[in-house]
Amino acid sequence: MATAHESDGALDDVIDPELPASTYVLEPDLVAPLVRRIVTSHDGGTHRSTLPFTGAPLAAVPLSAPADVVAAVERARAAQHDWAGTPLAERARVLDRLGVLVLERQSEILDLIQMESGKSRRSAFEEVADIAQTCRHYVVRGRRYLADRREPGALSVLTGVRVHRRPVGVVGVIAPWNFPLTLALSEAIPALLAGNAVVLKPDPQTSLSALWAAELFAEAGLPDDLLAVVTGGGQIGAELVEHVDHIAFTGSTATGRTVAAKAGERLIGATLELGGKNPLYVAADADLDAAVPGVVRACFSNAGQLCMSIERLVLHERIADDFLERFVPAVRALKLGGGLDYTADVGSLVSAQQLEKVAAHVDDALAKGARALAGAVHRSDVGPFFYAPTVLDHLPDDAVCLREETFGPVVSVSRVASDDEAVHAMNDTELGLNASIWSADVARARRIAARVEAGTVVINDGYLQAWGSAAAPMGGMKASGLGRRHGREAIEAMTEAQSVVAQRGLRAGVSMDTLYAVGGDVPSRVLTGAMRVMRRLRLP
Ligand code: NAD
Repeated sequence: MATAHESDGALDDVIDPELPASTYVLEPDLVAPLVRRIVTSHDGGTHRSTLPFTGAPLAAVPLSAPADVVAAVERARAAQHDWAGTPLAERARVLDRLGVLVLERQSEILDLIQMESGKSRRSAFEEVADIAQTCRHYVVRGRRYLADRREPGALSVLTGVRVHRRPVGVVGVIAPWNFPLTLALSEAIPALLAGNAVVLKPDPQTSLSALWAAELFAEAGLPDDLLAVVTGGGQIGAELVEHVDHIAFTGSTATGRTVAAKAGERLIGATLELGGKNPLYVAADADLDAAVPGVVRACFSNAGQLCMSIERLVLHERIADDFLERFVPAVRALKLGGGLDYTADVGSLVSAQQLEKVAAHVDDALAKGARALAGAVHRSDVGPFFYAPTVLDHLPDDAVCLREETFGPVVSVSRVASDDEAVHAMNDTELGLNASIWSADVARARRIAARVEAGTVVINDGYLQAWGSAAAPMGGMKASGLGRRHGREAIEAMTEAQSVVAQRGLRAGVSMDTLYAVGGDVPSRVLTGAMRVMRRLRLP
């Protein structure tokens, strides 16, 4: 069975490119204009992607060879010089058009995302909305984020400082398969606005969505070569890290460590968006009617294949039974399906490998004594990789799914007697991406949030309000990552701060050198006095 996942550089799905076109679900007419955008010399072979809903071959996608990565970065670097000199307003206009186009042309990309990832249309729409939001945010706020900053100098009167933000050059983006549009573009958007070029390597299973996004950028007016796409597995990803000036990586914590080590060796910046084992606490005062649908969405959106997805429910013992009485039937009622429409609540897992991992986590927990309140079955009647939304209770401490990210539709239940115990339970993991707190008292929830080790804490929602807040930095604490996407932080990661420090007063003959020319202890006495005055005046 075809798989989409690899992290050791090997790609086990490289195929004979001569297979007849009729083998594939996607018409060659639809695929050809997209694959033309790949930077490839056709030395890297061809990858066969799979339609997760049925397991049928979806498309044949040419792969890049390592030399193609070098060529893509060189071309991007050459194009970046002019782009950095293009007025910011013009760069922002391209993003503005992209945001309009993605909404206008959503039906095309919704189909493609669903067919490549197997997700529900609702989850695919969240990607479209995210890109429109991200474009709008940076169009409106980009000027402020990139503006020169005036700062006081060493001696306020004599020195003026301006801090400029300069693009790093070529930003590499490495993306996984679970959000094919969002993760292709959400780092590319601030990178390009800041005057960088981007070379993007999507997961081989979801290359077409990324290529569609690159095509849309071209339609929005982005000059050639500024957003190049290379295709391939871990070997091509690793090659990209060798040549770019900043790497924005989204994927597993294990691969993230490898990427970070290489970035450290090369002394380039790295933004790492990694895995999560995200907790959700339902406090004793939570409004359960409101909580139940929100918690269901938080756990099972994109069949749990979402980095911010909730995998651990922490319930206050006072409401635990009441909550589960409503939650479990709502989970059982979720409709699984693979149609290219909004009828299904939950789609398929992406691949046989993902299915295997999810089933192994559930089987391990059940074998160790856990009880399944819902799900725990492979739904092969719906499609080869579908798995029923699963709620596990009474898990022993050594259950694998309590520690390792499952990345599937599986949530565990635990009970606590107080908010303090809840904080302890939420923090009991090496990961720290997202957390959610449900309480009728938002001020109390904020106090709990301040003690939770997670890059985002969402009150009375699972993840969507945090992800959708494009101004709010998003990323992981602990082993969930380094750096943040969205907001000012994303722009700052992909630009270098340059301080231009000017001595004023040379014309009037006042400078550090005129002071030093006096000689003896005069300069140090004058400077000592000046520093005392500055302290009294509280000058920064
Ligand atoms: P993965 O780490 O296996 O692969 C991610 C990407 O890295 C793919 O494009 C892959 O080809 C590439 N890659 C693999 N080995 C590489 C190497 N040695 N050097 C450079 N690139 C390499 O991850 P996956 O299983 O495909 O994706 C799922 C993971 O992504 C989950 O852990 C999930 O939590 C995480 N994720 C995190 C976020 C976030 O924002 N924090 C978002 C989505 C997914």
